[in-house]
Amino acid sequence: MTDKVIVLGGGIVGLSCAFEAAGRGYKVTVVETGKPGGQASGAAAGMLAPYSENTEQPDAFFRLCLDSLRRYPQWLEEIEEASGRRIERIPSGSLNIVYHEADLSPLRTRLLWQNRFGAEAEIVEGSRLRELEPLLSPNVEAALYCPRESHVYAPDLVSALEDACRSRGIHIADHCGAVTDVRLTSAPGVTVSTEARGDIAGDRLVVCTGAWTGALGRWFGLHFPVHPIRGQICAYELPVGVVRHMVFSPQAYWTSKGNGTLVCGASEDVAGFDTAVTEKGIGRLVRSGPKAFPFLADKPLIHRWAGLRPATRDGWPLLGQLAEAPHVVIAAGHYRNGILLSPATGASVADLLDGKADRTELAPFSPGRFTLALAGGLPV
Ligand SMILES: Cc1cc2nc3c(=O)[nH]c(=O)nc-3n(C[C@H](O)[C@H](O)[C@H](O)COP(=O)(O)OP(=O)(O)OC[C@H]3O[C@@H](n4cnc5c(N)ncnc54)[C@H](O)[C@@H]3O)c2cc1C
Repeated sequence: MTDKVIVLGGGIVGLSCAFEAAGRGYKVTVVETGKPGGQASGAAAGMLAPYSENTEQPDAFFRLCLDSLRRYPQWLEEIEEASGRRIERIPSGSLNIVYHEADLSPLRTRLLWQNRFGAEAEIVEGSRLRELEPLLSPNVEAALYCPRESHVYAPDLVSALEDACRSRGIHIADHCGAVTDVRLTSAPGVTVSTEARGDIAGDRLVVCTGAWTGALGRWFGLHFPVHPIRGQICAYELPVGVVRHMVFSPQAYWTSKGNGTLVCGASEDVAGFDTAVTEKGIGRLVRSGPKAFPFLADKPLIHRWAGLRPATRDGWPLLGQLAEAPHVVIAAGHYRNGILLSPATGASVADLLDGKADRTELAPFSPGRFTLALAGGLPV
């Protein structure tokens, strides 16, 4: 008999898990409080940048990010085939710019270890840098050029993934309102009670509720320390190709989209579940623009928005089964890299459902790693 899998949360992580699980033969229902992709996933800049995001060392998180980047082309092909839609992925490469010679030293250290992991990165300065990115300010001293990084247009990707899920026969129970209860049975089985769509029953549960995951721990007697970090972000109107790379400065980043916008992000602040934009958050981004790109000095913004990154205490996702209830898989807390990490997350979750996941590889992401054992107060 085919197992029924309930995926809680219809952001990119939930849809990726659903898509992969359905591809492996499970009967999947996605339960989403609101609109699929309506939260962090639809707000993201869409950068697939494992090298720029991991600057310290080749740890387990870096390897997960890299694995996911490598899966991207094939994964997009599958989504395109299932959805019948074309998905934009721009292989722009990235430039991490510095304004002072002294700031080059950490970039040189980074380059040394990252090139052992396929970065093909180099330090560029002078005419070579200006050839790569002609409109950069003369104040920019040098940059770490990383040609292997790319980006997608996140709102379109999530919407194509939703279509792809539907075409694989996944039932998307969206706008279900609040989830009022989650009951696990030892059979094993699970029933999710929702405000607008009543009870939904299945055999397994995959929890992908992004920044809201912290509130779900109570149903499992566990502590999931996931909290929202607001990201404010904005866009200018700019033809494609004017800014050629993803450009990271110490204050902001810029990435040029196929729809004729230059996206500039992103602030990080703690504001609970408030997704309002503030003058303080956006103003800091806007002020940093002309320092990197002088032409931005008199350019008006055409769009500003915000989303809630799901952050864990150590910045790494929760990815694994619950020791106490192995028919429950957690895939949440992807913080700044959920778009990048979606193909690897979907594959890991489907491997866990199939009982063939590499437990050693997933151990650093164990969802129980922050939980204090109720009896002894020891980390489990
Ligand atoms: C401004 C900004 C820029 C970013 N840029 C990048 C980037 O360039 N590259 C990158 O890789 N990542 C980026 N990120 C991070 C990325 O957006 C997130 O890591 C990713 O979207 C998380 O996906 P998710 O599906 O876990 O969460 P979400 O997209 O937030 O989805 C969670 C879903 O769960 C639903 N939900 C909540 N509670 C329940 C419940 N009880 N029952 C049912 N459904 C529920 C919510 O309604 C929501 O739709 C950025 C984020 C922000 C905010």
